Amino acid sequence: MGFPTGKETDNWPLIKAPWFKDIVNQKREVRVIVIHTMEAPEKGTTAENVAKYFQNLPSNNKASAHLCIDNNSIVQCVLDNDVAYAAPGANHNGIQLELAGYSNQNRDDWFDEYSKALLENAANAAAQYCLKYNLPRKHLSNAELKAGKEGIIGHVQATEVFKLSDHTDPGENFPWDYFIDRVEDYYQKRK
Ligand SMILES: [Zn+2]
Repeated sequence: MGFPTGKETDNWPLIKAPWFKDIVNQKREVRVIVIHTMEAPEKGTTAENVAKYFQNLPSNNKASAHLCIDNNSIVQCVLDNDVAYAAPGANHNGIQLELAGYSNQNRDDWFDEYSKALLENAANAAAQYCLKYNLPRKHLSNAELKAGKEGIIGHVQATEVFKLSDHTDPGENFPWDYFIDRVEDYYQKRK
């Protein structure tokens, strides 16, 4: 579990972030997919804009993610085998997915037309990583994360379990039940 299976993801456009840990001569073990919100508006250009934001961060603000996702596109910023700087404690063995929108969205906000399209793109991407790294399509509890189980978490859970950051995204109203169902659906279609 957790090591690449040989199943590759889609080849998303790359806007490479300068800040990441380059893993050479070694296949990285991935244990968790970490869901974030970008705290950026629901626009068709948000994935590209946040990728460019990452690209221009100075050395005193080393942040990055593997994918930036909005309603109409996915941009890759850090290669899968490299470590993105997004969720301290869950960086070395995580794939970081940044979703357009805000962590203070209510459940209805998560089901507006924009967010539904965004969640489809995010679920499709997460399913591809579940296939690539042989991960269960499961939202882990904090206890499971702490125990080293494999699955999908929110940034807030890395914050609560590892206590190395203060971010609470993707927010308490993120529709985990719906999202995991969509991930499972894409997983079954793509496997
Ligand atoms: Zn985050």
